[in-house]
Amino acid sequence: MEKRRDIDKDKNISKRLAEELQRMKENSHVLLSGSEYVSIRILRDTPSLREYKLMVAFSRYSKPRLYGKVLVIKLTLPEEFPKMKPRIEISSGGEDVDLNLGNYLENLPPLRNWNPDRHLFEVALSILEFFNNFAVPACVICLNKITAQDYENTVRCRNPRCLSLYHKNCFESWISRGYKRACVFCDTPI
Ligand SMILES: [Zn+2]
Ligand SMILES: [Zn+2]
Repeated sequence: MEKRRDIDKDKNISKRLAEELQRMKENSHVLLSGSEYVSIRILRDTPSLREYKLMVAFSRYSKPRLYGKVLVIKLTLPEEFPKMKPRIEISSGGEDVDLNLGNYLENLPPLRNWNPDRHLFEVALSILEFFNNFAVPACVICLNKITAQDYENTVRCRNPRCLSLYHKNCFESWISRGYKRACVFCDTPI
């Protein structure tokens, strides 16, 4: 008898899950949340209702290494969801921006709820939190963080492989000490 009830319960959850996934699918391309450094978009135009994608984009205020880069995180819900965690695949167009995100996501606490929408939000918020710590740039000279408010008073190295950021004041005082007007790291003229 117990067993029978379990099966019914499972069926019920599957039905609710299917409905929930269909509803998610209908609300595609939702910008979930953002910060001045990172924004995350939920892409729901995947071929299967059990798949969803998060697109993580780094703004011009972010760390030079991450600036302009995009990461796509694909989550696939297994049949046994939520008893089993979603499978996570990260692609970054060959760019090394994952910064151990895979490990971090693997170690997130287990699901408290079967609702995939809520799970998606939890994952996305965790990712935002993760990158907020990494994406904040610092001035190469004074090593202080550069906020969005500072940004208009910065200079950026034009070498696309470097893109180092400097406070204008820090850079000017560096020059006034007799150094040449070039990036400290890569020697590109600024
Ligand atoms: Zn500075
Ligand atoms: Zn440079």
